[in-house]
Amino acid sequence: MNILLTGGAGYIGSHAAVALAQAGHQVVLFDNFCNSRHEVAQRLQTIIGHPLVVIEADIRQTDLLEKALRDHAIDAVVHFAGLKAVGESVAEPIGYYANNVQGTISLLQAMHNTHVKTLVFSSSATVYGVPHYLPLDESHPTSATNPYGRTKLHIEEMLGDVAQSDPTWRIACLRYFNPVGAHDSGLIGEEPNGPPNNLMPYLARVASGQLPQLNIFGNDYDTPDGTGVRDYIHVMDLAAGHLAALDFLTTHPHGRYVFNLGTGQGYSVMEMLRAFETVVGKPLPFHIAPRRAGDVASCYANPGFAASQLNWRAKLDLKAMCESTWQFQQRAARG
Ligand code: NAD
Ligand code: UDP
Repeated sequence: MNILLTGGAGYIGSHAAVALAQAGHQVVLFDNFCNSRHEVAQRLQTIIGHPLVVIEADIRQTDLLEKALRDHAIDAVVHFAGLKAVGESVAEPIGYYANNVQGTISLLQAMHNTHVKTLVFSSSATVYGVPHYLPLDESHPTSATNPYGRTKLHIEEMLGDVAQSDPTWRIACLRYFNPVGAHDSGLIGEEPNGPPNNLMPYLARVASGQLPQLNIFGNDYDTPDGTGVRDYIHVMDLAAGHLAALDFLTTHPHGRYVFNLGTGQGYSVMEMLRAFETVVGKPLPFHIAPRRAGDVASCYANPGFAASQLNWRAKLDLKAMCESTWQFQQRAARG
């Protein structure tokens, strides 16, 4: 298939590009590089072994999206493009709604106008809000605790309306848990601009000496060691989940489907720190800080629906997640 990846130069999109290209698909990246680097395209070509089409544009430029969909005879879109920093979304909600919601409307218009009706959307476990029970399955009630999460919920709801209005759409909303790790080439990975918000890239910068210590946000949660528990999933497993979702959409009836992409296994912040220390071979400085506003104690998936419907399961373990993060960090630090 010819597949357009909006936000394809970003962290998850670039890894999915590798998985899709290596499975024989033609991928076209459409990204405005507001949170990614131009070198990613070159690095992807090195991994994949052939040139890639990269279109530098904003998804709100509907005419350019339409042109891309037509020029490259696109069969399906994987929609990664979006802003994702929770704190920033609280400070700048208008920018988040404009980019994420308005951007998705523009994409849906372009797809509608060009009769491309197969879409995989990057959603998030954040749409479950505060868990009522664990593990989280797809029928857990949804809610939003911040503007970022609300953009994901609005988009999921819009996609439901679109699928209902026109039975030729095939849509999968993939609710990612906590993507971590990097491609084993060490060429692509998570490269946040500025100090990382997320645990794994933060740990990597502490290990490389770029940051003095890890601040553990709370050790008085109702969890086995008091620190927050999350479902960390290797980004290459997540990438494989997109392939599985596209295969599913092309072989199943039209409609909108929702799948959790997680491992089903929760790890605490302290367990993540210890696992990372084992990989880097030295203790890492940490400090117990107050809880971070909006954090929940535990969040992990029931991945059973994706396993049964997509025939997909995460395979890579915590060691692989830490090793690939560290390898990428070392390479990035060397420039
Ligand atoms: P990322 O920031 O690395 O990648 C997003 C890409 O989209 C970037 O390359 C950015 O330049 C591009 N982009 C943003 N707005 C755009 C626009 N208007 N037009 C064109 N390109 C635009 O983020 P990521 O971690 O790869 O996340 C990809 C998607 O997955 C996002 O939608 C995010 O909300 C979702 N998600 C991420 C996580 C996570 O922890 N990384 C978890 C759940 C869901
Ligand atoms: N966390 C932490 N220190 C950090 C970053 C994160 O203790 O510098 C904790 C955070 O409180 C949560 C877990 O690590 O319990 C995962 O946080 P992350 O921001 O990576 O993901 P999310 O909050 O989206 O699940």
